[in-house]
Amino acid sequence: MTPGGGDAGAAVERLARATRALITGHQRPDGDSLGSQLALAELAGALGVATVVVNHDPAPSTLADLPGAALVAVGASLPADFPDRFDLVVAVECPELERAGFDGLDRLPILNIDHHPANPLYGEVNYVDVDAPATGEMVWRMFRAAAIEPSAAAATNTFVALSTDTGDFRYGNATARAFRAAAEMVDAGASPTAVAQWIHGRRRAAAVHLLGAALSTLRLEADGRIAVIELDHESFRRAGASPEDTEDIVNHPRAIDGVRAVVFLKQWERGVVRVSLRSTGAVDVRRVAERLGGGGHANAAGCTVQGDLASTRELVVTAVREAVEAAS
Ligand code: AMP
Ligand code: MN
Repeated sequence: MTPGGGDAGAAVERLARATRALITGHQRPDGDSLGSQLALAELAGALGVATVVVNHDPAPSTLADLPGAALVAVGASLPADFPDRFDLVVAVECPELERAGFDGLDRLPILNIDHHPANPLYGEVNYVDVDAPATGEMVWRMFRAAAIEPSAAAATNTFVALSTDTGDFRYGNATARAFRAAAEMVDAGASPTAVAQWIHGRRRAAAVHLLGAALSTLRLEADGRIAVIELDHESFRRAGASPEDTEDIVNHPRAIDGVRAVVFLKQWERGVVRVSLRSTGAVDVRRVAERLGGGGHANAAGCTVQGDLASTRELVVTAVREAVEAAS
């Protein structure tokens, strides 16, 4: 069994006591959220628990081939038979319950499964492990705790979760523990080659056009320690791109020599700017995001600001500059 914090056994025990569980994750699902939910659905089934996986937003097309992805119900409202026909909500990778995007989830007991440091433990049972490289690794440990052999499909789903959240095993959370779990998943049938092809090998042309537009706005601040890129409404329109096409763009300026933090401003909706923040080492962008009403991890965080691009840029860059100064 892979060691780690949080009580996987208690999570299994709570899940197994349910009859029919609603599984959900955060809005705009990513690989960790979706992969973890799908693997959990398999685990629940093996424990004799019926499940419905419900997400507020569709997953990016890069995740369309995850085993079971087609069975996820996507929509702005909960199923008509909620809460009457359910007896548990499993919230996956939601640093707050509200991040799932649905009202009324708290009408049922919550099993909270997450690895975000700021998770306020809103569940009846909280399986929260801030040292976990990904929520998918935590779900993997639930299989072990339940003594249920994961199928190749579950191994694939948790491998997607783990490899996307660790940036293909390159970020600070790519610990020995992450590699051990990955090795177990590959032993159980996950194919790193197939997963890499899904995640990186099927880019829409619009996304590559959008990347070009974003990189053309690159400017360096704070003596080259902060990289700023942005996409206004018009850039989305011209590229024929949608919000999901912004995935991965933020990682390009990260590679610039000397850059400690990246600010990526996205305005696909007028009057609202989505901000993605990335940093290296001790530069804590989560605190910046939290001050602006968002959240995330120390080296990867985000927030949503009501305003125009120029004023948001000024606001965010000033705050990130302070974070960079504080770390140097
Ligand atoms: P992103 O830049 O969208 O990939 O998000 C990076 C990290 O920041 C993820 O862990 C998100 O959960 C978190 N995050 C992004 N946007 C928000 C937001 N508006 N509120 C809280 N957390 C956010
Ligand atoms: Mn995650």
